[in-house]
Amino acid sequence: TSFDDLGLSEGVRRAIAERGYQKPTPVQAATYRPLRDGKDVIVRSKTGTGKTAAFAIPLLERIPEGRRKPSALVMCPTRELALQVAEEFAALAKHRDLSVVAIYGGASMGEQLAKLEAGAEIVVGTPGRIYDHIRRRTLNLDAAMACCLDEADEMLNMGFFEEVTRILDHLPDDCQQLLFSATVPADIEQIIHKYLTDPETILL
Ligand code: AMP
Repeated sequence: TSFDDLGLSEGVRRAIAERGYQKPTPVQAATYRPLRDGKDVIVRSKTGTGKTAAFAIPLLERIPEGRRKPSALVMCPTRELALQVAEEFAALAKHRDLSVVAIYGGASMGEQLAKLEAGAEIVVGTPGRIYDHIRRRTLNLDAAMACCLDEADEMLNMGFFEEVTRILDHLPDDCQQLLFSATVPADIEQIIHKYLTDPETILL
């Protein structure tokens, strides 16, 4: 598979080329179509395989430009990962009218609030801080079209089960769910059972 076979928009294709990616990695080739079609997907894949772009590229194709409200939410176990994911999204969104905000603990609320108020379409963060913004009503997920749990097993290992499920409870029923995890222990099975609809599992 080449990126040209995927039927990408001009802006996303150009951003991928500028990022220096020549062809999709196996996880990107396997997940593009189901994610682009809005299906719920479980991806069993390790880090370092290109999994960030595997969810970023189809989400960037799905989210309408200029909506100015949170349309995709990505939850990550650590602030370092949240920053990396936000950076990758921003690079791939460069030629689309979509903006990205990273929200994580240990940083002041000010800048995060300003970006949320300006209407970022893509929100990437850690569960504690995301839930904090929901409680303060500075993050409204009523218009979210997609939610991605990145490194879901790690996130639950860090003790975020409560926050993650509370956040999932704030998403619209028809919100697309993406779950990336190296392993699927019982607490992840529970989340899959409660929040995913007819999911496709992709093993890599
Ligand atoms: P990730 O698994 O998302 O952490 O990505 C691992 C590394 O692969 C990152 O440095 C990405 O920038 C890089 N990468 C992602 N997709 C591609 C691609 N299609 N071609 C080459 N490198 C890539």
